[in-house]
Amino acid sequence: MTRLDAERFQVHFHAIGDRAVREALDAVQAARAANGRSDHRHHIAHLQVMHPDDVPRFAALGVTANVQALWAAHEPQMDDLTIPFIGPERTARQYLFGDLLRSGARLAAGSDWAVSSANPLRAIHVAVNRALPGASGDEAEPFLPEQGIGLAEALAAYTAGSAYVNHLDDETAAIEPGKLADLVVLDRDPFDGPPGEIAATRVLLTCVEGERVYTADNL
Ligand SMILES: [Zn+2]
Repeated sequence: MTRLDAERFQVHFHAIGDRAVREALDAVQAARAANGRSDHRHHIAHLQVMHPDDVPRFAALGVTANVQALWAAHEPQMDDLTIPFIGPERTARQYLFGDLLRSGARLAAGSDWAVSSANPLRAIHVAVNRALPGASGDEAEPFLPEQGIGLAEALAAYTAGSAYVNHLDDETAAIEPGKLADLVVLDRDPFDGPPGEIAATRVLLTCVEGERVYTADNL
């Protein structure tokens, strides 16, 4: 990590367990200590289980928390394959998006596709509600709801946050001449409806650098 940072690589880690998260942060700390601060926007993705002591280190070290919010819900992978094995203490330390934001961490967000849906609106729905769209029974119970984040914060993570780690924040920060025009047009303002309907939002139009690359059938 120290060598990559010195050679001006920007490192994307994928860390799921608490030890992996800590070792990734330790590696960035070592690089920052050896090379000084830089504008290399190192980031750690997934961040499933995290020790509470490591939460404030993201802001302190300038490491972006790159979250995949669709996982942060009760569903079979969580309830059958995770909770029975990691126990109650670590179960309560999963997907700490709220704690990260409160600690001043910068959030970016992604999908974990192809082992997950690529649809960011479903993930944003879970970031806010901590339950999957259409969940019923026990799965409708929010998973660690105090770790949910607001719709504005979730949208910012999936747009401005991801632009930031790609050094595209200046080019995408506004809708005005000279900017990139990487845009989607939605069929509603998701702030207008209840949080439980965020995932019903549909994309009508997608532009990449001003070129229309997707148009909904009904448009
Ligand atoms: Zn992942």
